[in-house]
Amino acid sequence: MNDAVATRGAAEALIAIVGAEHCLTGDAMLPFATDVYRQLHRPVAVVRPGSVEAVQQIARHASETGTGLSVRGGGASYTDAYLPREEGQILIDMTRLDRIVVIDEENGYVTVEAGVTWAALKQALDARGLRTPFWGPFSGVAATVGGSLSQNTISHGSAAYGISAQSVQALDVVLADGRLLRTGSSAAGLAPFARFFGPDLTGLFTGDAGAFGIKVRATLPLIKARAAHRPISFAFPDFDSIHEAMRRSAQDRLEDTHFAIDAALSQGQIARQDRAGATFGMAISIVRSAPSLVAGLRQLVQAGLSARRVLNRSAYMLHYIVEGVDDAEVRSRLARIRAILRDIGREILATVPAVVRGMPFAPLYNTLGPNGERWVPLHGILPHSAVPRFHRALDDFYAERAGEMKRLGVWTGGMFGTVGSSGFLYEIAIYWPDEITPYHRAMVPADYLDKLPKFPANLAARSYVDRLKSDLIALYVAHGAINFQLGKAYPYAARLEQAPLDLVRAIKTCLDPDGRVSPGNLGL
Ligand SMILES: Cc1cc2nc3c(=O)[nH]c(=O)nc-3n(C[C@H](O)[C@H](O)[C@H](O)COP(=O)(O)OP(=O)(O)OC[C@H]3O[C@@H](n4cnc5c(N)ncnc54)[C@H](O)[C@@H]3O)c2cc1C
Repeated sequence: MNDAVATRGAAEALIAIVGAEHCLTGDAMLPFATDVYRQLHRPVAVVRPGSVEAVQQIARHASETGTGLSVRGGGASYTDAYLPREEGQILIDMTRLDRIVVIDEENGYVTVEAGVTWAALKQALDARGLRTPFWGPFSGVAATVGGSLSQNTISHGSAAYGISAQSVQALDVVLADGRLLRTGSSAAGLAPFARFFGPDLTGLFTGDAGAFGIKVRATLPLIKARAAHRPISFAFPDFDSIHEAMRRSAQDRLEDTHFAIDAALSQGQIARQDRAGATFGMAISIVRSAPSLVAGLRQLVQAGLSARRVLNRSAYMLHYIVEGVDDAEVRSRLARIRAILRDIGREILATVPAVVRGMPFAPLYNTLGPNGERWVPLHGILPHSAVPRFHRALDDFYAERAGEMKRLGVWTGGMFGTVGSSGFLYEIAIYWPDEITPYHRAMVPADYLDKLPKFPANLAARSYVDRLKSDLIALYVAHGAINFQLGKAYPYAARLEQAPLDLVRAIKTCLDPDGRVSPGNLGL
């Protein structure tokens, strides 16, 4: 059988499961089979199941025909995580599984299908004055609950309640042979009201990069949305002082969300707002996020006056969104944050977190740089004690490569966060001039894309960035960093000691004996 016939045969079987309009082949697959960073192999087809039963049938089909499966949620990742490692695989797009199954207020949980986006979940819960503790990454307009749970995503709510894996009770997972496995209290055939019933089977599937099975439903805890909130921001002259500020404040956990950026990223952000002509949208979001209309308008005027002035003088900025049951609680938390940071940081106008609070799930503008450059982030999580040495090693790393980076137009920025009290997230964003891909054409709003400068294909810069990425990953590893969004880009299996490696392999063999699901993820 030649390739074309094999492709047609596979497509026919898949069409019988999902219907012709939800089985894509040829160039129609490209936006799905490209991640933020690149394309690997073309799948044999992209299938878009609309029910749990359809996912089970696809898994059975793959098992019977010996076909590999890759799984895509919102496609907002950049670690080759849903890109087929080899030819001939099926790529499952989960975004039609987007039902909110039940909002059970009495028992305090919400069950969703795995393809629900965080933005859709927030909208449904907002209407009832409810939220989940972790409530999504900044990419939540596209990112799904299933994708985020598969890669230990952080951001909204993480400062107070931890990462995505800490906000899930139970999962329904389709295994490689099509069986449905349920975790938490559901493992005993009960409602998904509890996570911890014996060993933590729910936890087993968090951060697994989809290598253990296909999440089809997730149950998350519900809490009351807090009525009051305010943003607060600080500027720091150097990295050591912002790191110390973040280390200290992580132990108090006063905020719902925080993020920190260096000057390169801060300036990029303002440039982008200007270029997109998004000033009006930004203004609306500042006013919407302020505690009152008057406060919002005052912030807006000040924002216009001082944004550029502050950016020019601040090497690093730390932004908090603080919540409370009422404004008195919020003010008391702000007072404590000011007291903790008084001797090391300078309070600045809180425009940036006000914008983020007003528009927590912005369109995916950030998948390109402020001048239309290509973008890929890398990250590592380090213990605080290892951070200063890593930062200096990174400075040396850049200094050694400064000439070549300048010649090729490659530049970088830094974004930072804390993970619990003991972990520091050090994220590096790499930018380079290169042509956009089918991914950007599908995911970035067209009116924004139209206004950005365009670059021709730039193989020299692209392959340099490839090397830079590998070298940076090696630097993270050498400094003892661990990673959340493992996919195929960060080493996992290769770093484990023998006993945990044996266990992880045994689990994979038990759930997926022929290695059909997400081959290559986790290094398995
Ligand atoms: C602009 C932008 C902002 C971002 N902000 C953040 C942020 O604030 N915090 C953060 O942590 N990350 C962030 N990210 C990275 C990424 O968006 C998130 O990690 C997000 O959670 C990925 O979810 P997704 O649904 O897009 O997953 P995908 O990218 O589609 O997939 C990610 C992984 O999950 C697996 N997977 C997806 N769905 C399933 C399923 N149902 N069952 C089993 N496996 C599955 C895939 O195989 C893959 O391994 C950002 C990315 C962008 C582009």
